Amino acid sequence: VKKPGGTIWKGNKNYDLMRSLQLGIRYSVGKHAVVCRELRSGDFDPNEKFWTKFPPEGSKFTPSHQLAEFRWKDYCPMVFRQLRELYKVDPTDYMMSMCGNGGLRELSSPGKSGSFFYLTQDDRFIVKTVKKSEVKVLIKMLPSYYQHVSRYQNSLVTKFFGVHCVKPIGGQKTRFIVMANLFCSEYPIHERYDLKGSSYGRKTEKPECEIDESTTRKDLDLNLVFFLNKYWFRELLRQIDLDCNFLEAEGIMDYSLLVGLHFRCDNVARELHSGKSEQYRIEKFLSGFHFLEAEFQNLNRGNGCRKRPVRLGANMPARAERITTGSAFDQCNPGGVNNFTPFRGESYDVILQFGIIDILQDYDISKKLEHAYKSLQADPTSISAVDPKLYSRRFRDFIARIFAKDA
Ligand code: ATP
Ligand code: CA
Ligand code: CA
Repeated sequence: VKKPGGTIWKGNKNYDLMRSLQLGIRYSVGKHAVVCRELRSGDFDPNEKFWTKFPPEGSKFTPSHQLAEFRWKDYCPMVFRQLRELYKVDPTDYMMSMCGNGGLRELSSPGKSGSFFYLTQDDRFIVKTVKKSEVKVLIKMLPSYYQHVSRYQNSLVTKFFGVHCVKPIGGQKTRFIVMANLFCSEYPIHERYDLKGSSYGRKTEKPECEIDESTTRKDLDLNLVFFLNKYWFRELLRQIDLDCNFLEAEGIMDYSLLVGLHFRCDNVARELHSGKSEQYRIEKFLSGFHFLEAEFQNLNRGNGCRKRPVRLGANMPARAERITTGSAFDQCNPGGVNNFTPFRGESYDVILQFGIIDILQDYDISKKLEHAYKSLQADPTSISAVDPKLYSRRFRDFIARIFAKDA
């Protein structure tokens, strides 16, 4: 499977930014790796941020480098150090992933907000450039975020590992967050969905023929319902409730459930009997075979390199059923999670990766204006920009419609 994104080479306009980010992270992680103490409330202080100068010739604390001088800021470093520990990210691994020689890969900006996304070579971490207001929101919610994710190990909200700012001399500040890549798994993603539970404009703009496994599809593109075993199903609804309560209390809206879907090779056999071309069938069969072989080796190796025990949303086995008419969004089945009886199409064994992303938007003046403006064109309840309470209710309802309990 081709890896997404291109490596950022020297000469790329973002090369210097990426290099300063790597230097900064190496410095921060190294600096805080040795400090070993309990968190104090002062560590959460929004003013708990440290500027460090990185002159090209190096200094007592910073290495020499070939970039123009820049300044580097760490927000609440002790808290993020603790979060990395909670998320079981080893400091050396973190440094290797973030600062390794291969550099980072730049993803063609997947969102509308204008943020840039970078991916580490090992796929574990994503760096996203964010607005000042988003950093503010994150730092403000940090105490309750920390409490929430410490309490609920199965929480689906984004795992954050750090927040930083880089400012080259005479240049603009760039703020960014480091988070877990939800799609870091040995199972290649075949389809991905960014789901908000709203319908207005929630369809990919790509023409059918251009849609492939790298396309992020949206609510109205989804024509599948996911069946989980009853334990995980209950756990999912419980956790979504807890996570939504948390986000609602923080005044957050506009977040999504990001779902990645891997069709298991058992489905290949099924497709072999369907009317696809011979070439396609052979290719599918071979890729299925290689996958089986890899899976077998993984099993034999016991704890395969990236294989983790099942946690909510990570490498989750499920069954997906295709809805034959319309999209899952249109399946009006409010709250009726257990009496799901739409027109059933084919059924597939799948592996799911999912989590809640983009959780740093509060219902600010721009979102209120967006709501007012779009309300002139569409049903106000169908647009993404609504107040956090309505947002969370709609989001939960939607999830209760697209997931169901397997028999
Ligand atoms: P907008 O505000 O316009 O929705 P944005 O720039 O804030 O966009 P996000 O919604 O955070 O961007 O992310 C855009 C896309 O990037 C997602 O739909 C998803 O495909 C990918 N993405 C974001 N975060 C992650 C993550 N943690 N793991 C995997 N993919 C991600
Ligand atoms: Ca988004
Ligand atoms: Ca956003």
